[in-house]
Amino acid sequence: MRLLIMGAPGAGKGTQAVGIAEHYGIPAISTGDIFRANVRQGTELGRRVSAIMAAGDYVPDELTERIVADRLDRDDAAAGWLLDGFPRTLHQVEALEKYLADHSVGLDAVICLDVDPEDLIVRLLGRAEVEGRADDDEGTIRHRMDVYLESTRPLLDAYEGRGLLVRVDGNGTVEEVGARIVAAVDAFVA
Ligand code: AMP
Repeated sequence: MRLLIMGAPGAGKGTQAVGIAEHYGIPAISTGDIFRANVRQGTELGRRVSAIMAAGDYVPDELTERIVADRLDRDDAAAGWLLDGFPRTLHQVEALEKYLADHSVGLDAVICLDVDPEDLIVRLLGRAEVEGRADDDEGTIRHRMDVYLESTRPLLDAYEGRGLLVRVDGNGTVEEVGARIVAAVDAFVA
């Protein structure tokens, strides 16, 4: 199974990705988590991306695409994966297409988590208190939302046009939303 999970910042992608990937026995691959781990460990990649992330901007496409391709090439991703937070730009969509074509595989579904827009900022501010992420102060949160609306939301139309988009109501408890996603994906790929 090869899946993407998309949605606005705060929609719950990361939380759901872990449960969904476990359900299907595939790795959940989060570009945000990969970048944050590199920042924490002080690697060269971490040094390149930390200021970009703290400002709520996107890491350059070529760099992000290389990180993802390297991760997808690892053995545990041979039979499938769930990508969380990638692709975020049209350039990344095209890079993923090329990767898939080069490996003679395709996407099974693109999950889109829909959450009421008013709830998103509230959720993110709540998470800022709990996790203390560098990109979770209010100004940065609003900027990340703008960047998402401008650069990433249009990708949903592209995937809808390809008949891959599975929209799921992301309002509710983690368990409710998780069950909804599995039911929707199972029905879609059946
Ligand atoms: P996330 O945890 O998915 O919200 O990602 C946190 C941050 O990592 C984003 O705000 C970006 O700075 C960076 N990032 C994660 N994924 C990507 C991507 N696909 N393209 C560019 N930047 C990314």
